[in-house]
Amino acid sequence: MNPKVSRRNFLMKGAQVCVGCCALIALPKLSANGLSSGFLPDNEIPDPKKLNYCGYKCPDDCKFLAASINNDTALKKEAFDIWKIEEKYGIAFDPEKIFCFGCKTTDKPEGVIITNCTVRKCAVEKKIDCCIECKELTGCSKELWTQFPDFKKMVIEMQTKYFETRGA
Ligand code: SF4
Ligand code: SF4
Repeated sequence: MNPKVSRRNFLMKGAQVCVGCCALIALPKLSANGLSSGFLPDNEIPDPKKLNYCGYKCPDDCKFLAASINNDTALKKEAFDIWKIEEKYGIAFDPEKIFCFGCKTTDKPEGVIITNCTVRKCAVEKKIDCCIECKELTGCSKELWTQFPDFKKMVIEMQTKYFETRGA
């Protein structure tokens, strides 16, 4: 079995089972479980439009997204507690203010996690779809990258593959 594919399956499974929201929430657990390289299988070309701004991909069955779409207070509270939103962002639970419609939502309000993300803000300002398009990535010292250096290495790997396919 391709080691990169199996690592990816492990990461995606971990994201679906234990975490699920965005990279800011998912990465501490993924790191603790042995996050290394190999986010995409060898034959998959990274597509900036299909990735979140940082290169992370939200799992299809994200609990927080389902809670937000269905305006499910109990599920929102579960996500709020699991992802320690009060501890991280200093806000009390309020079902009207706690939601997430994804990192790249355009037709829904932006949730507390994504509005606090400096990587997302920077990529939006640069008018790019993903940091893999940014030539400053290797030297970029935004908190997400300094906090999760292994994730940054994976994103740099994705960028190398992306640039190779474009002959950049
Ligand atoms: S860019 Fe920021 S808000 Fe979007 S998925 Fe990555 S860490 Fe989360
Ligand atoms: S400077 Fe950093 S955060 Fe901004 S787009 Fe480039 S890699 Fe992403």
